[in-house]
Amino acid sequence: MKQPVIFFGHGNPMHAIQDNPFTPFWQTLGQKNPRPKAILVISAHWLTRGTWLTAMQQPPTIHDFGGFPQELFDQEYPAPGSPELAQTVKDLLAPINVTLEENEWGLDHGAWTVLKYLYPQADIPVVQLSLDATLSSQEHYELAKKLKALRDQNVLIMGSGNVVHNLSVMDFKSRSVYPWAERFNAFFKEHLMSGDHASLIDPFSNSPDAHLAIPTLEHYWPALYILALKEEGDRTEIITDGIDLASISMLTFQFS
Ligand code: ZN
Repeated sequence: MKQPVIFFGHGNPMHAIQDNPFTPFWQTLGQKNPRPKAILVISAHWLTRGTWLTAMQQPPTIHDFGGFPQELFDQEYPAPGSPELAQTVKDLLAPINVTLEENEWGLDHGAWTVLKYLYPQADIPVVQLSLDATLSSQEHYELAKKLKALRDQNVLIMGSGNVVHNLSVMDFKSRSVYPWAERFNAFFKEHLMSGDHASLIDPFSNSPDAHLAIPTLEHYWPALYILALKEEGDRTEIITDGIDLASISMLTFQFS
């Protein structure tokens, strides 16, 4: 069974425990999609020097945020790891040197706040692949292409970030949206639907709003991984959309 590839706009960690317009759609996706044998997650929140993979039997749930209620810190996503999948991914990425990590990481909130809805039983093994901060956007896109074979091995690949992500002007109270956030989200969707990945790999040359929409790239890169894994004949589906907290895109899309 060929697996889809999905990009999640994860946004506010509170979505893990609070009613919101987005997560019911993620839940439905988990019920509709073919059940994978394992999941590989590329999260905005694991930024490293070099490329790393979680390779432990039981990855801990990481609460990598501050200033949120205790209830959020009490959340656990006890899915098993898969040293076997980590080894397979390492082999696929060769000759890139990949470090198998067994003690320092686990599942960060880019992974578990989404997986909690997708597979609430936490009974499918999950491996995380880090983002090498020293690579360019083009290099991330090329690296991601090496993962293609996993889709035919019944492994779900998901990216988790946000295609518009400006924390410095985020607004928890206002219901308004910055026009540049809206525009850049539309720019992304337009090229997503037309399959023009080159414009999305180099957004700064193609959208005057990029500097405000993605002042840093770690939340944007996971989307490039999913774009790179699109195959001929795949259907493009937008699962959730909209700008939350004035400057965070909740765009979630799937290729299947
Ligand atoms: Zn995030």
